[in-house]
Amino acid sequence: MDQNNGILLIYTGGTIGMEKDPVNGSLRPFDFSKVLEKIPELQRFGFDIDTIQFKSPVDSSDIHPGFWIEIADIIEENYEHYRGFVVLHGTDTMAYSASAMSFMLENLSKPVVFTGAQLPIGILRTDGRENLITAVEIAASMEHGKPAVPEVCIYFESKLYRGNRTTKVNAEHFNAFQSANYPYLAKAGVDLVFNREFIRYPEIHEPLIVHRRFSDQLTIIKLFPGINRKYMDAVFAIDNLRAVILETYGSGNAPSEEWFIKRIRQAVEKGIILLDVTQCSRGSVELGLYHTSRTLLEAGVVSGYDITTEAATTKLMILLAQDLTTEEIKMLLNKSLKGEITLH
Ligand code: ASP
Repeated sequence: MDQNNGILLIYTGGTIGMEKDPVNGSLRPFDFSKVLEKIPELQRFGFDIDTIQFKSPVDSSDIHPGFWIEIADIIEENYEHYRGFVVLHGTDTMAYSASAMSFMLENLSKPVVFTGAQLPIGILRTDGRENLITAVEIAASMEHGKPAVPEVCIYFESKLYRGNRTTKVNAEHFNAFQSANYPYLAKAGVDLVFNREFIRYPEIHEPLIVHRRFSDQLTIIKLFPGINRKYMDAVFAIDNLRAVILETYGSGNAPSEEWFIKRIRQAVEKGIILLDVTQCSRGSVELGLYHTSRTLLEAGVVSGYDITTEAATTKLMILLAQDLTTEEIKMLLNKSLKGEITLH
């Protein structure tokens, strides 16, 4: 069969691909090339489903940019041969990986669907079986001869989300992800219904380019009432620090006390990029709406709009690794590169 019709399943690790050791009852990864034996229904799709698994599947808490490069390498090497890709991944850091992948894969025109499970596939009540089967169906779906969702997405509990809009919000329920600031891209009920007006379709058709460089010259400061000024000094004194994601209150507000604003101003003067991301899961930063954010705006803080912390982190990691000036990076932070922010 022409492989261009098929789907490539990339198993990186996580609960979905684990089974209970019959002797001691602990969870261990199973050989994912045997997935068709565990879920024979997959064969009924009538197209090829090939699998590749990481040599040592990882719990997603161990994921780092090296793994993102490994996933992107697999997609790039196989890009022409498959209709779409399904990445099986632990849920804990899936939102980071899907966000990173959205910025890494330039000119993507095929679906890359991340999914996983809260219960292993071998368990009777697993959510992994439905998640996997529908993720494969979505990755293979075509409309007017073109992939239905040519984006990096996450499929979980009957909804398909844009990857860089998601956050893991639940550690126990099957409904583990939310995309608070952007509508879902598809819903699986009796039929698969695509939310076409919210899907990004490539405007130009250029070959896939993979961004493989990441910077770690960034960090996150989550504000809380009573934050220690020595802590802020210590963070801003980190060698070669280039960016700080400031997790602020509400619509982007922060203390207006002089000691705080002074440190923000000094950091900006040192050339550190300060990106304002709200701690609220829904809604957007609006610098200048309140006095407590106007001072940030005047000090040179950049608005993160309604970006998630996961998308902000991975976008910055990639932008900082490119040969761009601080001003160019600030300008790109104010642009939606892959649908990660809503600009009014
Ligand atoms: N700790 C696991 C992981 O993220 C949980 C999961 O797979 O959902 O890899």
